[in-house]
Amino acid sequence: MPNMDPKKCPMPSQEPNVRNKNFKEVALGYTEEMAVNEAKRCLQCKNHPCRSGCPVEIDIPGFIKHVAEGDFEAAYNVIAQSSALPAVCGRVCPQEHQCEGKCVRGIKGETVGIGRLERFVADWYRNNVHTKPTAPAPNGHKVAVIGAGPSGLTVAGDLAKLGYKVTVYEALHVAGGVLMYGIPEFRLPKDIVQHEVEGLKELGVDIETNMVIGKVLTIDELMNDYGFEAVYVASGAGLPRFMGIPGESLNGVYSANEYLTRVNLMKAYKEDSRTPIMKSKSVAVVGGGNVAMDAARCAKRLGAENVYIVYRRGMAELPARKEEVEHAEEEGIVFKTLTNPTEVLGDENGWVKGMTCVEMELGEPDASGRRRPIVKEGSEFVLNVDTMIMALGTSPNPLIRSTTPGLDADKHGCLITNGPDGLTSRPMVYAGGDAVTGAATVILAMGAGKEAARAIDAAIKAKEQ
Ligand code: SF4
Ligand code: SF4
Repeated sequence: MPNMDPKKCPMPSQEPNVRNKNFKEVALGYTEEMAVNEAKRCLQCKNHPCRSGCPVEIDIPGFIKHVAEGDFEAAYNVIAQSSALPAVCGRVCPQEHQCEGKCVRGIKGETVGIGRLERFVADWYRNNVHTKPTAPAPNGHKVAVIGAGPSGLTVAGDLAKLGYKVTVYEALHVAGGVLMYGIPEFRLPKDIVQHEVEGLKELGVDIETNMVIGKVLTIDELMNDYGFEAVYVASGAGLPRFMGIPGESLNGVYSANEYLTRVNLMKAYKEDSRTPIMKSKSVAVVGGGNVAMDAARCAKRLGAENVYIVYRRGMAELPARKEEVEHAEEEGIVFKTLTNPTEVLGDENGWVKGMTCVEMELGEPDASGRRRPIVKEGSEFVLNVDTMIMALGTSPNPLIRSTTPGLDADKHGCLITNGPDGLTSRPMVYAGGDAVTGAATVILAMGAGKEAARAIDAAIKAKEQ
């Protein structure tokens, strides 16, 4: 008999007033008993609508059935057929818009906690099974991947499983991309990311760090001099956007990318870290997406008394996941919505001392379908802050396209591909993830990697014939 409880088994979590002072993971994960009970809420639908919502096509009812039976290893093996990073996806996928968004249990209650179950299974496997994957027999072909973020790691894993010799070139000193520099420890512990990266290395994937493709080597050199038959560009979207208002070059203004990189990758929050970061009293984070929530919650944990999210639309329009907004509110982040900065104010030494803002109201919907924010006349006020973090989105770094003749990009700098296969305007050069879409989600980047791996394999095999 399925468990017909209309509610998901709640996720055990650190208390808000405790967790907003430490960087340990907020959600503590299900116990075995909780996981089995939650898995029993799945109706094992024959047409499995949830699966169509998963960009990497995990056999969701298949793995959940094993969880309900208490066979967690079998559940892991089902997930691993489709996902190279299950412990990551179970934590950071926007499940409410993906798999869980299609779950039929959501019609009359809460959906099955698919992400929570996936996380449980991946964590259980990591803690209980220590057999290493074996590298398959080589097929004699070489593929290069640029960028060791979620998209690049997915391509690398899928091709390695087919016997390809894959080398991943990563610009930073560790693999993981946005999983390492962007998403904070309290949402995604870094040892979990590195454990998943180690699994790929055991499959035979080579990861070369501190390799900035476009500076150290070009794509043409990889293909002509190093013998790679195909290249997958997964260099992400690391170029931050700013507002273009006066005062943005003052000391104490960060891009969210820089702030989060200092905190997450460079561990600025640790006492023995040599990475400098502002010890702020009052912080304004401009923007309303997940990155803004991450930056605000980091600033709070670093000891800021007042942390504001400054967003020009209303609470209903915040693009961040609902869960992230709720967590931020619980932790004491103050939401100043319908507010837009117009100038950053500095003191006599060039440090931020505040920002001038205007209040906004919402007008008619714009091209994006969201109501357009309009300035309220005479509403100017000053918000006293000593740090500003701009979380306004990012676009791809121009380095790859500027050093690869014939590689087409759109006006935002995103590489143009032929569609889901990811083939660019250059033969045997594929691209996917944020380098193509601009900043999006981890799971969409992984889905693009999966499609591209299939296309690369088909293209190389077609050449053999
Ligand atoms: Fe859902 Fe993401 Fe897991 Fe797919 S990978 S089943 S979308 S949580
Ligand atoms: Fe289970 Fe929901 Fe998928 Fe149906 S839609 S198989 S209930 S997870």
